[in-house]
Amino acid sequence: MVAENSFLSWSNTSLNKRSQILSNIADLIEENLDDFTLAESIDNGKPIHLSKSIDIPRVSANFRFYAHAVTQFYSESHESQGLNALNYTLRKPMGVVGRISPWNLPLYLLTWKIAPALAAGNCVIAKPSEITPMTAFLLCEICEKAGLPKGVLNLVHGLGSETGQAIVEHPKVKAISFTGGTKTSEHIARTATPMFKKLSLELGGKNPNIIFEDCDYEKMMTTTLKSSFANQGQICLCGSRIYVQKTLYNKFKNDFVNRVSKLKVGHPIDDNFDMGAIVSKAHLEKIESYINLAKTNHNMNILCGGEKLILKSYPNGYYLKPCIIEVKDNKCKLNQEEIFSPVVTLMPFETENEVLNMVNDSLYGLSSTLWTQNLNRCMRMSQRLETGIVWVNTWLNRDLRTPFGGTKQSGVGREGGFEVLRFFTEPKNVCIDYNTEF
Ligand code: NDP
Repeated sequence: MVAENSFLSWSNTSLNKRSQILSNIADLIEENLDDFTLAESIDNGKPIHLSKSIDIPRVSANFRFYAHAVTQFYSESHESQGLNALNYTLRKPMGVVGRISPWNLPLYLLTWKIAPALAAGNCVIAKPSEITPMTAFLLCEICEKAGLPKGVLNLVHGLGSETGQAIVEHPKVKAISFTGGTKTSEHIARTATPMFKKLSLELGGKNPNIIFEDCDYEKMMTTTLKSSFANQGQICLCGSRIYVQKTLYNKFKNDFVNRVSKLKVGHPIDDNFDMGAIVSKAHLEKIESYINLAKTNHNMNILCGGEKLILKSYPNGYYLKPCIIEVKDNKCKLNQEEIFSPVVTLMPFETENEVLNMVNDSLYGLSSTLWTQNLNRCMRMSQRLETGIVWVNTWLNRDLRTPFGGTKQSGVGREGGFEVLRFFTEPKNVCIDYNTEF
């Protein structure tokens, strides 16, 4: 295996050299921002202004962050007083590790794990989604120019059921870092667990957006438009269940419908649109099946959107008007299942306890967003929300040092900061007995 052959030399490359190569990669991505941006938008359908301001800058940030973080990474030592022993922990790279990622933030998510894995001294076999492989290919060209030795990062293309499966079941791949759907991860875990592989799983979400009457209304409204429909609602952190306090409900409903109806959907490469295309025909059909459910259920009311849009100049694209559905029952499919789309639900609540019970009544637990100016309420609710991330009066506000990941069926383990460097290293305790007598 090429990756295995490269491991000894890469893992023994000095920290400074590894860090320098990762910084070079970050520089080259910045220099080639326009090429990456265009490729990402064409592949995925996301508006080009989003690729340019969020996706690709975050790719270089991933490499730059771990170029620095790895030089600050440390391990523990424990002095066993009375036993005359000193324990210290060595953190060794794992060897060859696998990375499998989805289509929604193609290069952003792929590199979010590749960068720390390489920084820690591992060799990586990475598989991007077959739906959006283009920027991963461009990355390989850049890595060579940046001085990354051959065999250290190995990009493989192909379907998940074949190529992805081959990575997961290969006996020489020591760890699997997976981002994608909860169902796929069940399958991966069934293969990898009996082989005693280390697993990091970042999975689906059904994130609540909780709005109290005392919020900063304009800030909340502007952010809620983004948290609902950025990237056509295809970000794992999008807030797809909106709960609004009853006293504010009608005002919010009118204003939100008004603002959402004005969002412009169009070709991703044209800078004049707020939203681009849905990623694939299959995904569009899945979204439509949920909208059709709402059309026939008297407990659900489509307030706006949900219609397919045929662009004259691009009649074969998969465009959908952003959709708000008012629901009466928190247990309904639309509030329980991940749709991963520009479809959000709306529901009123009266009390803190009532809304907490509803938002926590979910198989998922990735992130939640809370809008209130009451500090005591923020602190109380943050303690009780069953999600890995709680945003208060903000959304998608990311500091790369913080732990990232979900609870329940939204994932296993945490990435970000040093957490992921711990994942990509094997701790080894060394215990030295010493004599206290001269
Ligand atoms: P999938 O689970 O369908 O696919 C994810 C990746 O897994 C793809 O590269 C896919 O390959 C691959 N794959 C599929 N089957 C297998 C298999 N048997 N063995 C190994 N690999 C396999 O997810 P999507 O691509 O549809 O992405 C959307 C999902 O990702 C949503 O549920 C979303 O919530 C989640 N997600 C979670 C995030 C988080 O941080 N928690 C972030 C972003 C998305 P291919 O598609 O090429 O065939």
